[in-house]
Amino acid sequence: MKKEIIVIGGGASGLAAAISAKKEGRDVLLIEKEDRLGGILNQCIHNGFGLQVFKEEYTGPEYADRYINEFYKNNIEYLLDATVTDVIKIKDGFEITFSSRKTGIKKVNTNAVIMSTGCYERTRGSIIIPGDRPYGVITAGSAQRYLNIDGYMVGKNVFILGSGDIGLIMARRMHLEGANVLGVAELMPYSNGLTRNIVQCLNDFDIPLFLSHTVTQVNANKNQRLESIIIQQVDEKYNPIEGTEKNFKVDTLLLSIGLIPDITLLDNLNVEKDYKTKSVKINQSYQTNVSGLFICGNSLQVHDLVDNVSLESERAGVCASQYVLSQTTKANKNVRVVAGKNLLFVTPHYVDFSSESSKIVFQFRSKMKIEKSMLKISQDNKLVKNKRINFVVPAEMESITLNIENFDSSNDIVLDLEVL
Ligand SMILES: Cc1cc2nc3c(=O)[nH]c(=O)nc-3n(C[C@H](O)[C@H](O)[C@H](O)COP(=O)(O)OP(=O)(O)OC[C@H]3O[C@@H](n4cnc5c(N)ncnc54)[C@H](O)[C@@H]3O)c2cc1C
Repeated sequence: MKKEIIVIGGGASGLAAAISAKKEGRDVLLIEKEDRLGGILNQCIHNGFGLQVFKEEYTGPEYADRYINEFYKNNIEYLLDATVTDVIKIKDGFEITFSSRKTGIKKVNTNAVIMSTGCYERTRGSIIIPGDRPYGVITAGSAQRYLNIDGYMVGKNVFILGSGDIGLIMARRMHLEGANVLGVAELMPYSNGLTRNIVQCLNDFDIPLFLSHTVTQVNANKNQRLESIIIQQVDEKYNPIEGTEKNFKVDTLLLSIGLIPDITLLDNLNVEKDYKTKSVKINQSYQTNVSGLFICGNSLQVHDLVDNVSLESERAGVCASQYVLSQTTKANKNVRVVAGKNLLFVTPHYVDFSSESSKIVFQFRSKMKIEKSMLKISQDNKLVKNKRINFVVPAEMESITLNIENFDSSNDIVLDLEVL
Protein backbone atom coordinates (compact mmCIF):
# COMPACT_ATOMS: atom_id res chain seq x y z
CA MET A 1 0.00 0.00 0.00
CA LYS A 2 1.27 3.50 -0.79
CA LYS A 3 -0.23 6.83 0.25
CA GLU A 4 0.62 10.34 -0.89
CA ILE A 5 0.54 11.79 2.63
CA ILE A 6 0.46 10.11 6.04
CA VAL A 7 -0.53 12.27 9.01
CA ILE A 8 0.66 10.95 12.39
CA GLY A 9 -1.68 12.02 15.20
CA GLY A 10 -5.37 12.93 15.17
CA GLY A 11 -5.48 15.92 17.54
CA ALA A 12 -6.28 19.49 16.48
CA SER A 13 -3.12 19.59 14.39
CA GLY A 14 -3.47 16.27 12.57
CA LEU A 15 -7.15 16.88 11.81
CA ALA A 16 -6.54 20.32 10.27
CA ALA A 17 -3.50 19.12 8.29
CA ALA A 18 -5.33 16.06 6.94
CA ILE A 19 -8.41 18.08 5.96
CA SER A 20 -6.44 20.72 4.06
CA ALA A 21 -4.23 18.16 2.27
CA LYS A 22 -7.31 16.17 1.26
CA LYS A 23 -9.07 19.32 0.02
CA GLU A 24 -6.01 19.90 -2.19
CA GLY A 25 -6.78 16.54 -3.76
CA ARG A 26 -4.20 14.34 -2.01
CA ASP A 27 -4.61 10.72 -0.97
CA VAL A 28 -4.31 11.01 2.82
CA LEU A 29 -4.15 8.47 5.67
CA LEU A 30 -4.29 9.65 9.30
CA ILE A 31 -3.01 7.32 12.03
CA GLU A 32 -4.05 7.92 15.67
CA LYS A 33 -2.96 5.83 18.64
CA GLU A 34 -5.99 6.56 20.85
CA ASP A 35 -9.45 5.09 20.24
CA ARG A 36 -10.91 8.46 19.23
CA LEU A 37 -9.96 11.57 17.27
CA GLY A 38 -9.42 14.97 18.95
CA GLY A 39 -6.23 14.46 20.98
CA ILE A 40 -5.75 16.52 24.13
CA LEU A 41 -8.92 18.55 23.36
CA ASN A 42 -11.03 15.62 24.58
CA GLN A 43 -9.93 16.17 28.17
CA CYS A 44 -10.12 20.00 28.07
CA ILE A 45 -13.77 20.36 29.06
CA HIS A 46 -13.38 24.03 29.99
CA ASN A 47 -14.29 26.78 27.52
CA GLY A 48 -11.91 29.17 25.76
CA PHE A 49 -11.37 27.39 22.46
CA GLY A 50 -12.12 28.70 18.99
CA LEU A 51 -12.42 32.46 19.45
CA GLN A 52 -10.12 33.14 16.49
CA VAL A 53 -11.16 30.40 14.05
CA PHE A 54 -14.91 30.22 14.73
CA LYS A 55 -15.48 33.55 16.54
CA GLU A 56 -17.24 31.45 19.17
CA GLU A 57 -16.17 30.18 22.55
CA TYR A 58 -16.20 26.38 22.64
CA THR A 59 -15.09 23.71 25.08
CA GLY A 60 -12.24 21.47 23.89
CA PRO A 61 -14.52 18.57 22.80
CA GLU A 62 -16.89 21.00 21.00
CA TYR A 63 -13.96 22.54 19.14
CA ALA A 64 -12.65 19.08 18.22
CA ASP A 65 -16.12 18.07 16.98
CA ARG A 66 -16.18 20.91 14.44
CA TYR A 67 -12.98 19.52 12.89
CA ILE A 68 -13.95 15.86 13.28
CA ASN A 69 -17.22 16.48 11.40
CA GLU A 70 -15.30 18.24 8.62
CA PHE A 71 -12.82 15.36 8.59
CA TYR A 72 -15.62 12.79 8.14
CA LYS A 73 -17.30 14.95 5.45
CA ASN A 74 -14.11 14.82 3.41
CA ASN A 75 -13.99 11.01 3.55
CA ILE A 76 -10.43 10.90 4.80
CA GLU A 77 -9.02 7.47 5.50
CA TYR A 78 -7.96 6.95 9.12
CA LEU A 79 -6.91 4.34 11.64
CA LEU A 80 -7.65 4.50 15.36
CA ASP A 81 -5.94 2.49 18.11
CA ALA A 82 -2.90 2.38 15.82
CA THR A 83 0.48 3.59 17.07
CA VAL A 84 3.20 4.62 14.65
CA THR A 85 6.40 3.03 15.93
CA ASP A 86 8.88 3.89 13.20
CA VAL A 87 9.44 6.36 10.37
CA ILE A 88 12.20 5.43 7.93
CA LYS A 89 13.39 7.42 4.93
CA ILE A 90 13.40 5.35 1.74
CA LYS A 91 14.31 6.25 -1.84
CA ASP A 92 11.07 7.94 -2.91
CA GLY A 93 9.52 8.79 0.44
CA PHE A 94 9.04 7.07 3.78
CA GLU A 95 8.20 3.68 5.22
CA ILE A 96 5.88 3.99 8.21
CA THR A 97 5.50 1.13 10.70
CA PHE A 98 2.43 1.04 12.91
CA SER A 99 1.04 -1.40 15.39
CA SER A 100 -2.60 -1.99 16.25
CA ARG A 101 -4.62 -4.67 18.00
CA LYS A 102 -6.73 -5.18 14.85
CA THR A 103 -3.96 -5.46 12.27
CA GLY A 104 -0.81 -6.31 14.22
CA ILE A 105 2.39 -4.70 12.96
CA LYS A 106 2.02 -3.23 9.47
CA LYS A 107 4.10 -1.10 7.12
CA VAL A 108 2.85 1.51 4.69
CA ASN A 109 4.80 3.72 2.28
CA THR A 110 4.14 7.37 1.62
CA ASN A 111 5.55 10.30 -0.35
CA ALA A 112 5.27 12.73 2.56
CA VAL A 113 4.74 12.62 6.32
CA ILE A 114 3.08 15.23 8.52
CA MET A 115 4.09 14.84 12.17
CA SER A 116 1.26 15.98 14.48
CA THR A 117 2.14 13.97 17.56
CA GLY A 118 1.60 16.75 20.13
CA CYS A 119 3.70 17.07 23.28
CA TYR A 120 4.24 15.35 26.64
CA GLU A 121 4.52 16.66 30.20
CA ARG A 122 7.69 17.01 32.22
CA THR A 123 7.51 14.82 35.30
CA ARG A 124 8.95 14.92 38.82
CA GLY A 125 12.18 13.25 37.67
CA SER A 126 13.06 16.18 35.45
CA ILE A 127 13.20 18.71 38.32
CA ILE A 128 14.38 16.53 41.24
CA ILE A 129 12.21 17.48 44.25
CA PRO A 130 13.82 16.34 47.51
CA GLY A 131 11.96 14.09 49.95
CA ASP A 132 9.87 10.93 49.87
CA ARG A 133 8.39 9.24 46.80
CA PRO A 134 4.72 8.99 47.79
CA TYR A 135 1.76 8.50 45.52
CA GLY A 136 -0.33 11.63 45.14
CA VAL A 137 2.33 13.43 43.08
CA ILE A 138 1.15 13.43 39.47
CA THR A 139 1.28 15.63 36.41
CA ALA A 140 -1.59 18.08 35.94
CA GLY A 141 -2.43 16.66 32.50
CA SER A 142 -2.74 13.12 33.90
CA ALA A 143 -4.98 14.43 36.70
CA GLN A 144 -7.10 16.20 34.08
CA ARG A 145 -7.51 12.97 32.17
CA TYR A 146 -8.38 10.95 35.32
CA LEU A 147 -10.97 13.54 36.31
CA ASN A 148 -12.52 14.57 33.00
CA ILE A 149 -12.36 11.33 31.03
CA ASP A 150 -12.19 8.49 33.58
CA GLY A 151 -14.28 10.21 36.28
CA TYR A 152 -11.82 9.82 39.19
CA MET A 153 -11.27 12.56 41.78
CA VAL A 154 -7.51 12.65 42.33
CA GLY A 155 -7.34 14.33 45.77
CA LYS A 156 -8.95 16.45 48.47
CA ASN A 157 -6.23 18.88 49.57
CA VAL A 158 -4.26 19.96 46.59
CA PHE A 159 -1.22 22.08 45.81
CA ILE A 160 0.04 22.85 42.32
CA LEU A 161 3.64 23.34 41.24
CA GLY A 162 4.00 25.38 38.07
CA SER A 163 1.69 28.04 36.71
CA GLY A 164 1.45 26.83 33.12
CA ASP A 165 -2.05 26.75 31.64
CA ILE A 166 -2.73 23.14 32.59
CA GLY A 167 -1.86 23.90 36.23
CA LEU A 168 -4.11 26.96 36.29
CA ILE A 169 -7.01 25.16 34.61
CA MET A 170 -6.65 22.25 37.03
CA ALA A 171 -6.59 24.58 40.06
CA ARG A 172 -10.05 25.82 39.07
CA ARG A 173 -11.29 22.38 38.07
CA MET A 174 -10.26 20.78 41.38
CA HIS A 175 -11.79 23.70 43.30
CA LEU A 176 -15.09 23.35 41.42
CA GLU A 177 -15.11 19.60 42.14
CA GLY A 178 -14.90 20.37 45.87
CA ALA A 179 -11.18 20.01 46.55
CA ASN A 180 -9.34 22.44 48.80
CA VAL A 181 -6.77 24.05 46.49
CA LEU A 182 -4.18 25.62 48.77
CA GLY A 183 -2.03 27.38 46.21
CA VAL A 184 0.11 27.42 43.10
CA ALA A 185 3.90 27.86 43.31
CA GLU A 186 5.84 29.23 40.35
CA LEU A 187 9.64 29.24 40.18
CA MET A 188 9.77 32.23 37.84
CA PRO A 189 8.88 35.79 38.92
CA TYR A 190 6.02 35.65 36.36
CA SER A 191 3.38 33.08 35.48
CA ASN A 192 3.83 30.78 32.51
CA GLY A 193 0.10 30.72 31.78
CA LEU A 194 -2.19 32.95 29.76
CA THR A 195 -3.23 36.12 31.61
CA ARG A 196 -6.90 35.23 31.17
CA ASN A 197 -6.28 31.91 32.93
CA ILE A 198 -4.64 33.59 35.95
CA VAL A 199 -7.68 35.83 36.32
CA GLN A 200 -10.36 33.23 35.60
CA CYS A 201 -8.78 30.22 37.33
CA LEU A 202 -6.95 31.68 40.35
CA ASN A 203 -8.05 35.25 41.13
CA ASP A 204 -11.77 34.51 40.70
CA PHE A 205 -11.51 31.71 43.32
CA ASP A 206 -9.01 33.37 45.70
CA ILE A 207 -6.40 30.68 45.03
CA PRO A 208 -3.00 32.16 45.96
CA LEU A 209 -0.16 32.28 43.43
CA PHE A 210 3.33 32.17 44.99
CA LEU A 211 5.69 33.63 42.37
CA SER A 212 9.46 32.92 42.75
CA HIS A 213 8.63 29.88 44.92
CA THR A 214 9.22 26.17 44.50
CA VAL A 215 8.52 22.92 46.34
CA THR A 216 11.62 21.95 48.36
CA GLN A 217 10.32 18.98 50.36
CA VAL A 218 7.74 16.22 49.84
CA ASN A 219 6.66 14.12 52.84
CA ALA A 220 4.81 10.79 52.82
CA ASN A 221 2.60 9.29 55.56
CA LYS A 222 3.00 5.70 56.72
CA ASN A 223 0.83 4.48 53.83
CA GLN A 224 3.15 6.14 51.36
CA ARG A 225 0.51 8.75 50.43
CA LEU A 226 1.56 12.38 50.20
CA GLU A 227 1.03 14.06 53.58
CA SER A 228 2.64 17.51 53.30
CA ILE A 229 4.94 19.68 51.24
CA ILE A 230 7.23 22.60 51.97
CA ILE A 231 7.59 25.48 49.54
CA GLN A 232 10.31 28.13 49.68
CA GLN A 233 10.98 31.42 47.99
CA VAL A 234 13.94 31.37 45.56
CA ASP A 235 16.58 34.02 44.82
CA GLU A 236 17.43 35.31 41.32
CA LYS A 237 19.55 32.18 40.74
CA TYR A 238 16.55 30.01 41.74
CA ASN A 239 18.20 28.85 45.00
CA PRO A 240 15.80 28.42 47.96
CA ILE A 241 16.06 31.24 50.53
CA GLU A 242 16.43 30.02 54.12
CA GLY A 243 13.72 31.14 56.51
CA THR A 244 10.99 31.39 53.81
CA GLU A 245 9.64 27.84 54.32
CA LYS A 246 5.85 27.39 54.21
CA ASN A 247 4.28 24.06 55.13
CA PHE A 248 1.08 22.77 53.47
CA LYS A 249 -0.86 19.67 54.53
CA VAL A 250 -1.86 18.16 51.18
CA ASP A 251 -2.61 14.72 49.78
CA THR A 252 -2.02 15.72 46.17
CA LEU A 253 0.68 17.67 44.37
CA LEU A 254 -0.04 18.41 40.72
CA LEU A 255 2.95 19.17 38.53
CA SER A 256 2.54 21.65 35.70
CA ILE A 257 6.21 22.16 34.97
CA GLY A 258 6.42 22.23 31.22
CA LEU A 259 5.53 20.54 27.99
CA ILE A 260 7.99 19.02 25.54
CA PRO A 261 7.23 18.43 21.83
CA ASP A 262 6.98 14.69 21.17
CA ILE A 263 9.44 14.00 18.37
CA THR A 264 10.71 10.62 19.56
CA LEU A 265 9.60 9.09 16.24
CA LEU A 266 12.22 11.18 14.45
CA ASP A 267 15.15 9.66 16.35
CA ASN A 268 16.20 7.53 13.38
CA LEU A 269 16.07 10.39 10.89
CA ASN A 270 18.80 12.93 10.53
CA VAL A 271 16.59 15.90 11.41
CA GLU A 272 18.12 19.21 12.44
CA LYS A 273 17.05 19.97 16.04
CA ASP A 274 16.24 23.27 17.74
CA TYR A 275 17.27 23.11 21.41
CA LYS A 276 15.11 26.16 22.24
CA THR A 277 11.78 24.75 21.07
CA LYS A 278 13.02 21.22 21.92
CA SER A 279 11.73 20.20 18.51
CA VAL A 280 13.16 20.41 15.00
CA LYS A 281 13.97 23.17 12.54
CA ILE A 282 11.64 23.98 9.67
CA ASN A 283 11.30 26.34 6.73
CA GLN A 284 8.23 28.47 5.98
CA SER A 285 6.50 25.39 4.49
CA TYR A 286 6.80 23.49 7.83
CA GLN A 287 9.23 21.15 6.07
CA THR A 288 12.28 19.88 7.95
CA ASN A 289 15.72 19.34 6.40
CA VAL A 290 14.52 15.80 5.58
CA SER A 291 12.77 16.22 2.24
CA GLY A 292 9.05 15.35 2.52
CA LEU A 293 8.96 15.42 6.34
CA PHE A 294 6.58 18.10 7.65
CA ILE A 295 5.75 18.96 11.26
CA CYS A 296 3.15 21.18 12.93
CA GLY A 297 1.07 21.73 16.09
CA ASN A 298 2.49 21.01 19.53
CA SER A 299 5.07 18.62 18.15
CA LEU A 300 6.65 21.60 16.39
CA GLN A 301 6.22 24.19 19.14
CA VAL A 302 4.07 24.19 22.27
CA HIS A 303 1.09 26.43 21.55
CA ASP A 304 -1.11 28.23 24.06
CA LEU A 305 -4.11 28.57 21.71
CA VAL A 306 -5.63 25.75 19.72
CA ASP A 307 -6.74 28.18 16.99
CA ASN A 308 -3.07 28.77 16.13
CA VAL A 309 -2.50 25.00 16.04
CA SER A 310 -5.33 24.56 13.54
CA LEU A 311 -4.28 27.47 11.30
CA GLU A 312 -0.63 26.42 11.29
CA SER A 313 -1.49 22.79 10.53
CA GLU A 314 -3.89 23.77 7.76
CA ARG A 315 -0.98 25.58 6.09
CA ALA A 316 1.31 22.58 6.65
CA GLY A 317 -1.26 20.34 4.92
CA VAL A 318 -1.31 22.63 1.87
CA CYS A 319 2.51 22.78 1.77
CA ALA A 320 2.81 18.99 2.03
CA SER A 321 0.35 18.71 -0.86
CA GLN A 322 2.40 21.16 -2.97
CA TYR A 323 5.48 19.09 -2.19
CA VAL A 324 3.82 15.86 -3.33
CA LEU A 325 2.71 17.48 -6.58
CA SER A 326 6.08 18.97 -7.43
CA GLN A 327 8.24 16.25 -5.75
CA THR A 328 10.85 18.95 -5.69
CA THR A 329 14.40 17.77 -6.19
CA LYS A 330 15.88 21.25 -6.62
CA ALA A 331 18.38 22.32 -3.96
CA ASN A 332 16.94 24.43 -1.16
CA LYS A 333 17.92 28.10 -1.15
CA ASN A 334 17.73 28.68 2.58
CA VAL A 335 18.22 31.90 4.47
CA ARG A 336 18.41 31.63 8.27
CA VAL A 337 15.85 33.29 10.52
CA VAL A 338 17.49 34.46 13.74
CA ALA A 339 15.88 35.34 17.11
CA GLY A 340 17.25 38.58 18.59
CA LYS A 341 18.30 38.99 22.22
CA ASN A 342 14.80 39.59 23.60
CA LEU A 343 13.19 36.56 21.93
CA LEU A 344 13.14 33.01 23.26
CA PHE A 345 12.76 31.57 19.76
CA VAL A 346 11.28 32.23 16.36
CA THR A 347 9.87 29.86 13.75
CA PRO A 348 10.38 29.15 10.90
CA HIS A 349 14.13 28.71 11.25
CA TYR A 350 14.72 29.11 7.52
CA VAL A 351 13.11 30.83 4.58
CA ASP A 352 13.53 28.69 1.49
CA PHE A 353 13.58 30.84 -1.64
CA SER A 354 13.08 27.77 -3.86
CA SER A 355 9.86 26.83 -2.05
CA GLU A 356 6.38 27.27 -3.55
CA SER A 357 5.26 28.96 -0.36
CA SER A 358 5.57 32.74 -0.59
CA LYS A 359 3.78 33.45 2.70
CA ILE A 360 5.94 33.42 5.85
CA VAL A 361 4.17 33.23 9.22
CA PHE A 362 6.78 34.15 11.83
CA GLN A 363 5.82 32.90 15.32
CA PHE A 364 7.82 33.88 18.38
CA ARG A 365 7.88 34.21 22.16
CA SER A 366 9.53 36.98 24.17
CA LYS A 367 12.04 36.22 26.92
CA MET A 368 10.31 38.49 29.41
CA LYS A 369 7.24 40.58 30.07
CA ILE A 370 7.42 43.83 28.06
CA GLU A 371 4.67 46.45 28.48
CA LYS A 372 5.45 48.38 25.29
CA SER A 373 7.61 47.05 22.52
CA MET A 374 8.46 47.43 18.84
CA LEU A 375 8.85 44.27 16.78
CA LYS A 376 11.67 44.84 14.31
CA ILE A 377 12.33 42.57 11.34
CA SER A 378 15.54 43.31 9.51
CA GLN A 379 17.91 41.87 6.96
CA ASP A 380 21.47 42.96 6.35
CA ASN A 381 21.00 45.62 9.08
CA LYS A 382 18.14 47.20 7.10
CA LEU A 383 14.69 47.40 8.66
CA VAL A 384 12.16 45.44 6.58
CA LYS A 385 9.14 45.82 8.83
CA ASN A 386 8.30 47.10 12.28
CA LYS A 387 5.15 46.78 14.35
CA ARG A 388 4.20 48.09 17.74
CA ILE A 389 3.17 45.35 20.18
CA ASN A 390 1.86 46.18 23.63
CA PHE A 391 2.11 43.75 26.53
CA VAL A 392 4.10 40.71 25.49
CA VAL A 393 4.74 37.85 27.91
CA PRO A 394 6.64 34.57 27.37
CA ALA A 395 3.42 32.60 27.91
CA GLU A 396 1.70 34.09 24.86
CA MET A 397 2.96 33.31 21.38
CA GLU A 398 3.01 36.26 18.96
CA SER A 399 3.01 36.16 15.19
CA ILE A 400 3.37 38.29 12.08
CA THR A 401 2.85 37.29 8.45
CA LEU A 402 5.02 38.67 5.65
CA ASN A 403 5.55 37.83 2.00
CA ILE A 404 8.83 36.39 0.76
CA GLU A 405 9.13 39.37 -1.61
CA ASN A 406 10.05 41.50 1.41
CA PHE A 407 13.39 39.69 1.65
CA ASP A 408 16.34 38.73 -0.52
CA SER A 409 18.06 35.40 -0.57
CA SER A 410 21.45 36.51 0.73
CA ASN A 411 21.53 37.40 4.45
CA ASP A 412 20.04 36.25 7.75
CA ILE A 413 16.57 37.58 8.64
CA VAL A 414 16.59 38.89 12.22
CA LEU A 415 13.53 39.38 14.45
CA ASP A 416 13.68 41.17 17.78
CA LEU A 417 11.56 43.14 20.22
CA GLU A 418 12.82 46.57 21.18
CA VAL A 419 11.66 47.72 24.63
CA LEU A 420 10.04 51.18 24.36
C1 LIG B 1 -4.76 21.60 29.79
C2 LIG B 1 -4.78 22.35 28.51
C3 LIG B 1 -5.58 23.45 28.44
C4 LIG B 1 -5.65 24.15 27.24
N1 LIG B 1 -6.51 25.21 27.18
C5 LIG B 1 -6.67 25.85 26.01
C6 LIG B 1 -7.66 26.89 25.89
O1 LIG B 1 -8.37 27.24 26.85
N2 LIG B 1 -7.81 27.49 24.68
C7 LIG B 1 -7.04 27.11 23.63
O2 LIG B 1 -7.21 27.68 22.54
N3 LIG B 1 -6.09 26.15 23.72
C8 LIG B 1 -5.88 25.50 24.88
N4 LIG B 1 -4.95 24.50 24.97
C9 LIG B 1 -4.03 24.25 23.84
C10 LIG B 1 -4.57 23.29 22.76
O3 LIG B 1 -5.57 22.49 23.28
C11 LIG B 1 -3.45 22.42 22.23
O4 LIG B 1 -2.36 23.23 21.88
C12 LIG B 1 -3.88 21.60 20.98
O5 LIG B 1 -5.08 20.92 21.21
C13 LIG B 1 -2.76 20.63 20.60
O6 LIG B 1 -3.09 19.91 19.46
P1 LIG B 1 -2.05 18.88 18.79
O7 LIG B 1 -2.80 18.17 17.73
O8 LIG B 1 -0.79 19.56 18.43
O9 LIG B 1 -1.67 17.86 19.96
P2 LIG B 1 -2.56 16.74 20.67
O10 LIG B 1 -3.92 17.17 20.90
O11 LIG B 1 -1.75 16.27 21.82
O12 LIG B 1 -2.61 15.58 19.57
C14 LIG B 1 -1.54 14.71 19.29
C15 LIG B 1 -2.14 13.37 18.88
O13 LIG B 1 -1.11 12.53 18.38
C16 LIG B 1 -1.35 11.21 18.81
N5 LIG B 1 -0.08 10.49 18.74
C17 LIG B 1 1.08 10.78 19.39
N6 LIG B 1 2.05 9.90 19.06
C18 LIG B 1 1.49 9.03 18.18
C19 LIG B 1 1.98 7.89 17.48
N7 LIG B 1 3.24 7.46 17.63
N8 LIG B 1 1.15 7.22 16.65
C20 LIG B 1 -0.13 7.66 16.48
N9 LIG B 1 -0.66 8.73 17.13
C21 LIG B 1 0.14 9.41 17.95
C22 LIG B 1 -1.87 11.41 20.24
O14 LIG B 1 -2.57 10.28 20.71
C23 LIG B 1 -2.76 12.63 20.07
O15 LIG B 1 -4.08 12.30 19.77
C24 LIG B 1 -4.86 23.76 26.13
C25 LIG B 1 -4.02 22.66 26.22
C26 LIG B 1 -3.98 21.94 27.41
C27 LIG B 1 -3.07 20.73 27.45
